[in-house]
Amino acid sequence: MKNALTIDLEDYYHATAFADYIDQVQWHSQASRIEANTQKLLDLLDAHECHATFFTLGCVAEQFPQLVKKIAARGHEIACHSFAHRQIFTLTRDQFYEDTRRAKLVIEDAAGTPVYGYRAPSFSITNASEWTFELLAELGFTYDSSIFPIKQLNFEMQNVPRNPFVIVTSTGPILEFPMTTLQIAGARAPLAGGAYLRLLPYWYTRWGIQYLNISESRPACVYLHPWELDPEQPRMKGSITAHLRHYFGLRGTETKVHRLLEDFEFQPLGLLVKELGSPLSPDLTVNLPQIRVAEFFSYISEP
Ligand SMILES: [Zn+2]
Repeated sequence: MKNALTIDLEDYYHATAFADYIDQVQWHSQASRIEANTQKLLDLLDAHECHATFFTLGCVAEQFPQLVKKIAARGHEIACHSFAHRQIFTLTRDQFYEDTRRAKLVIEDAAGTPVYGYRAPSFSITNASEWTFELLAELGFTYDSSIFPIKQLNFEMQNVPRNPFVIVTSTGPILEFPMTTLQIAGARAPLAGGAYLRLLPYWYTRWGIQYLNISESRPACVYLHPWELDPEQPRMKGSITAHLRHYFGLRGTETKVHRLLEDFEFQPLGLLVKELGSPLSPDLTVNLPQIRVAEFFSYISEP
């Protein structure tokens, strides 16, 4: 079974962990490491003949269009990770629409390919932003991968379905591919991405993906950032929590990614979504649960 590999294409200083300590206007004065880190990742993926989806920040596509072009030319899918990595629940409907529209245009321009997939910065779609899916469908996105259906610090999403489903909005359907979780004996646990990949031992990730593939016959969606392969990156000012979340386990990540690529087969999320049935082909969606947008948001609560 092929799992999905997704990369959130952003630099170390875009991370939400440091958003309180560095302003967006200061980003241009930081020493960017995204080209070298992405090159390292592209070579690693090439060595394993693996293709991935790169959820790209619009501001990265604007500053480094050649990098986005190169990723697309090497056979990877280019998707959207917002323009400026602002958490969606901090935006108004109009701000979200404009941020996403601008991001999609600049990313498509750089990549030379259309963009169909969206991932919110820090999985920040909550019931403070019930217009999100409607606007994504209106802007031409066919799938989203922004929901982490676990109990989080500020939002409880453990009642959201763990497996892919179609969200029906007034502007059209959009397929949601939630971040991968394990559900054992009624408890849900995160798996296979970002800080969880760095913090948890590799055997857990491998066992979890195998369990999902074999016991549930479901593919996993793994996510990474290019800066996670860069233990030498500059240390930012930030809280102890931000430092733990961002810097813990950086030295071991490259080895873990290498082992993941050895142990499992991956493909871009867009291809996996096509296999599940694109919402734009109504006849293919019959096997996926369909949830109206209001019902979806009723599953999310604040603790
Ligand atoms: Zn991000």
